[in-house]
Amino acid sequence: MEKRFESFTIFDFQEQFPDDKSCMDYLSNIKWADGYVCPKCGNTKFCKGDKEHIRQCTKCNYLESPTSSTLFHKVKFPLLKAFYIVYYVSTNKKGISSTELSRKLGLRQKTCWLFKQKVMHGMKSSGNNKIQGKAEVDESLVGGQEEGVVGRKKGKKKLVVFAIEKKGRGVSRFYGKVIEKSSAIELGDFMKANIAPDAMVKTDEWTGYKPLKKDFINLIQIPSGKKGENFSELHRVIMGFKGWLRGMHHHANHLQAYINEYTYRFNRNFMKANIFDNLLNRMMNAKPCPYKMIIC
Ligand SMILES: [Zn+2]
Repeated sequence: MEKRFESFTIFDFQEQFPDDKSCMDYLSNIKWADGYVCPKCGNTKFCKGDKEHIRQCTKCNYLESPTSSTLFHKVKFPLLKAFYIVYYVSTNKKGISSTELSRKLGLRQKTCWLFKQKVMHGMKSSGNNKIQGKAEVDESLVGGQEEGVVGRKKGKKKLVVFAIEKKGRGVSRFYGKVIEKSSAIELGDFMKANIAPDAMVKTDEWTGYKPLKKDFINLIQIPSGKKGENFSELHRVIMGFKGWLRGMHHHANHLQAYINEYTYRFNRNFMKANIFDNLLNRMMNAKPCPYKMIIC
């Protein structure tokens, strides 16, 4: 039977964040958790700025808001609504579309879409939790309308390399990266970023994996088997991702962001209670991501 994990309910959320001020207090606590340091001159003394929550450096008079240099930078709608978006994206098992966010929060769909892209930016893997123990790696074509295209022929689809960590009879971690081609360089970059060098890595017999045996001492290559039966857990997880993606009306150019979103939640399935808090912290520590950068 599935073990149930305590989660951060909508009631917990509403109690903790009744208004914009409580959200700003919270961000302020994250921003200056280790004390105040002026980003311009390094001074550690401040006085209150012209508005609440703004800190002013006593030496160079630089004004700083809790949201500056974070993914909340220059958000043009109430912070409480931005918190609701982070809440829904992080805690809904399957995420939430921008159309639904728009209906729930009374914001324009485009506004929700753009801010959600920023949230997804915060969900990018930190690279701090590499796959250990048993790993499986394989590539798959994702997106587009061309079902039935087999092998490594790409068509309009994008090529993605995926990896899982197996634990017991289940899968404990899942990562993916959009790549141009299945070259040893691209496969290797992804694997080195996400898999520990001594993990027991299993791949199919594709030549692109062969040179990687020098980086992964326990890498073995085996035939994929009929319908990929030797990689059944990995393929099951990839199918789950593809099924979810079909319901998201995603744009191919943003595929990596959707992979980040899906794997972020997947990898935190056992830490539901602090997933919201974790994502807020990541958004506060990530570099701002201007809307221009998202659209390009
Ligand atoms: Zn200063």
